[in-house]
Amino acid sequence: MSAGSKGDTVRRNITVQIDRDLCIGNAMCRAAAPKAFIADSDGQSTVADPAAESLENLMEAVASCPVGAVVVRDGETGEMLEP
Ligand code: SF4
Repeated sequence: MSAGSKGDTVRRNITVQIDRDLCIGNAMCRAAAPKAFIADSDGQSTVADPAAESLENLMEAVASCPVGAVVVRDGETGEMLEP
């Protein structure tokens, strides 16, 4: 899912994705950026409203995911942003 529909005018254009094939549902990303991610019915995380979170919190979510399932990209270049 893209952050482009909401909030990309607030700060740099980014996209936020979760790889469901990797996600083990331990909720670390939701702790780091609770507005950006919510639990789905399987207990995995899904993208909610990343524009409501600071880039710092989103990067913390990337750093806290033990399986590398949280991916934040520059919406214009597609470049993965590293914490
Ligand atoms: S931190 Fe990673 S593994 Fe844990 S719920 Fe979030 S995306 Fe899934």
